[in-house]
Amino acid sequence: MSDPTQGGRPPSVDALARSLVDCGLPHPLLVDAARRAIAAGDPGRARAEAVAIARTLLQPVINATGVLLHTNLGRAPLARLQGATYSNLELDLVSGDRGSRSAHAAALMARACGGDAGLIVNNGAAAVLLVLAALARGRSVVVSRGELVEIGGGFRVPEVMAESGARLVEVGTTNRTRIADYERALADPGNDVALVLKVHKSNYRIEGFTGEVGIEALGGLGDPPRPLVVDLGSGLLDSACPWLPDGPPAWLRDEPAARQTLLSGADLIVFSGDKLLGGPQAGVIVGRADLVAACARHPLARALRPGGLVLGAMQDVALAYLGRTAQHLPFWRMATVPVAELERRVEALGVGEPVATTAVTGGGTLPGVDVPSAGIALDGDRTAGLRAFHPPVIARVRDGQTLLDLRTVEPADDPTVADAVRAATAADA
Ligand SMILES: *Cc1c(COP(=O)(O)O)cnc(C)c1O
Repeated sequence: MSDPTQGGRPPSVDALARSLVDCGLPHPLLVDAARRAIAAGDPGRARAEAVAIARTLLQPVINATGVLLHTNLGRAPLARLQGATYSNLELDLVSGDRGSRSAHAAALMARACGGDAGLIVNNGAAAVLLVLAALARGRSVVVSRGELVEIGGGFRVPEVMAESGARLVEVGTTNRTRIADYERALADPGNDVALVLKVHKSNYRIEGFTGEVGIEALGGLGDPPRPLVVDLGSGLLDSACPWLPDGPPAWLRDEPAARQTLLSGADLIVFSGDKLLGGPQAGVIVGRADLVAACARHPLARALRPGGLVLGAMQDVALAYLGRTAQHLPFWRMATVPVAELERRVEALGVGEPVATTAVTGGGTLPGVDVPSAGIALDGDRTAGLRAFHPPVIARVRDGQTLLDLRTVEPADDPTVADAVRAATAADA
């Protein structure tokens, strides 16, 4: 076949598209690439256009940023292999009757946190929205002014509250909220308070002259007692980390955990499946069975429910915690690998200059907390070259150097990282 990018007449779109078949994209996408190149008056650019399209596809990347839960990279690393198969998603295998989507992953998650019942939705924001809509629509919700947070991506507590149809009653001040502030709001008959909401300050800190009211004091507050809902943000299941042989790492500090929050008197907790839990994107609601049932009955629950792929992944995660094998979840494995082991891997890479680095948990968790780590530094900004590698390697730039942190790299990917570094540094040498 003659090369359609050569010769006098402009090539036909179809012939040009066919010449790109080795790019591995389906024909209509190759046609798009060919059209763009011809429209730009440069048919020779068609291959580059096809490569650009291929690079927009969802694909595995190597995370060398040292950010364990990188929102741009899908937060927690996740295995994604599943053969085509039916499942008992909504079938009770004992009775043969229609079963519940909450019978497996959600029930196991509740068991793992020490709650009565659980429900899983698409993400943490959806979980907060559903809880507020199901338990407080047309009524009010008491929240401390120090907790009216923006989580990022446009998730702001006052706005989610408005969308849910619940009324926000703010109490206290930005830096200090006392129990009397909550009590006054609950006692005011004009407020018609449905529940008290406590929101974890996941992604920022308030320091200095501060004060907030703990879970113990807020549980059962009011006459009659109102449910206490705690939005934990990240899904650290147990502050003692019984799944880690050496217990909680120092950098976990005072991060609140699901089990202890329920034990301290929260009626319902809400957290993200892909923050410190180390699972897929999901929102987990766990707590009192009557409150969880009210959430499950609400029409929004149908709109916010995840599919079998996510529930299957969440079930694996819940079983890992229950079986005390959660130290093998990729997130925990990477988060806890000793620095000395990372240094050994850095040496074995044989490229770049070995450097001490600081990793972070990221994803809007543990602000200002550093996780000691190790990696390599390259002169200049090599990030574009590293991203162009197959698979793409994502690194960061600091002080004019490119840093690759091995804490977030699977050991099996180390040789690929070395190849990518060689390619990226050779390309512009
Ligand atoms: C992250 C976070 C959310 C939202 O969870 P997503 O899973 O990201 O939707 C809600 N509340 C708090 C406190 C959070 O930190």
